[in-house]
Parts: sequence; structure tokens; C-alpha cells
Amino acid sequence: MTKQDLLYEGKAKKVWTTDDANQVIVEYKDDATAFDGTKKGTITGKGEINCAVSTILFQYLESYQVKTHFIQRLSAREMLTKKVEIIGIEAVMRNVATGSLVKRLAFPEAQVLEYPVYETYLKNDALGDPLINEHHAYALHLAKPEELRAIFRLTGKINAILRSFFDRRGMTLVDFKLEFGRFQGEIILADEISPDTCRIWDQKSNKKLDKDRFRFDLGGVEKAYQEVYERVTAR
Ligand code: UDP
Repeated sequence: MTKQDLLYEGKAKKVWTTDDANQVIVEYKDDATAFDGTKKGTITGKGEINCAVSTILFQYLESYQVKTHFIQRLSAREMLTKKVEIIGIEAVMRNVATGSLVKRLAFPEAQVLEYPVYETYLKNDALGDPLINEHHAYALHLAKPEELRAIFRLTGKINAILRSFFDRRGMTLVDFKLEFGRFQGEIILADEISPDTCRIWDQKSNKKLDKDRFRFDLGGVEKAYQEVYERVTAR
């Protein structure tokens, strides 16, 4: 597989074309941004850790028949993936109340949600990734009803699988964001699943082991990412 041209550079990843029109190489960077790109920094070792964690989680989900864009890890910070047409919606699932659920709807901080909360956001930094419902998504021609239903169903299934995966490793999967893409007529999981895109707390202490340490300058960012990596790779 040969890496060709830079197709796209995002905040945390670069995407390269390959000699196969249906496959791209995703390169994970150490760059970190928060608050729709207004806060910028570097988390040393993040690219490798997010590439490794995403690889493990994509492979784990595939073992439960969840289709993902993942094909193969190529190097420390590169993976070969299917070239999908990304759907411009962020699918968020929340198991524990924090962040905007506390601010906007006055949930008690850290309250375990009896019914997980599913939300969709418009993938648009300039607008600050606003919360949208399915009707906005149709009006914006982002996806068809059957595609949104597939995204909802898959996000719920992925939540069930990953919650217990993290639980068995002493971590709480508080919430996470997924992105999906179209590939050969199907909706498949794309983007990444890592401490950049999930909130992960230590089960005993509720210590934050994710990007919130960077967002809110809590310190020990690298150590927290390393901790997630070690627990995810531990058998
Ligand atoms: N998230 C993400 N990228 C985004 C927005 C959210 O990965 O552009 C993840 C985030 O890490 C968290 C979850 O989605 O795990 C919910 O994030 P949100 O920004 O909605 O948090 P809140 O509004 O609760 O502060």
C-alpha cells in the first residue's frame, strides 16, 4: 500500500490517498484542539495512543458484527481504512451526566443515567457544532430517515458493547461521539474512538482519563492517555 497525496487535514488527523481509490490512510497527530478549535495544543504520544486504542476498539466492534472503516494498522500512528463519504452529523451517547447535560438541563454532575441519552450535533466548527434533531438533519439534506435510524441503532449497539468493555477494565464510559460514513451503499462506523472522543473515568475514583484534562487544564494529560492505553491493551 503506497501513501500518495494529502486528501484532507483535520484537527487531529491527516488523511492520505493510496493506490486504491476505495482506501485511505489515516494518520493520527499529537495536535489537540478543544472548544471548536479555539484552544490549541499538543499532547505528546497522543497520535500513537489514539491509533492503538481506535484499532483495538474497531477490531473489538467488528467481532460483534459492527461494520467499521478499519482495515489494518500500518504503523504506530497510521491505519488503513475504507474511504467513506462522511455524514456531517456527530452522534453522541451519554451514560453519565456531565458537561452540557449538567449546564443545560441541570442534571446532577456524575449522575448515572438510567436511560442513556442519545444526541445528534451538526459537524460544523464555525457554528460551534450545534445540537440538532432528525428534522434539521433532513432539512439540511445530511442523511435519509433510514440512514439516521441506522446511526441511532448502531450507536446504541456500540454503547452496549463498549460500556462493558471499559467496565471490565475498571473504567466508566461516560459519553462518546461517533461519526459514520457511507461505503458501498451501507452506513459504517468511521473516524476514531479514543480518549479524544470519549469521556472515560476511573471507576473507583471518577478521575478523568480523557481530553477533559486538556480542555480544562487539569494536568497529567499524557499520563491519563497512557493509562487508558495500558488498561485497554491489558488482557
Ligand atoms: N465529542 C467529540 N468531538 C466533538 C464534540 C464532542 O469527540 O466535537 C465527544 C466528547 O469528547 C465527549 C462527548 O462527545 O465524550 C460529548 O461531548 P460534548 O462536547 O457534547 O460535551 P458537553 O456538551 O457535555 O460538554
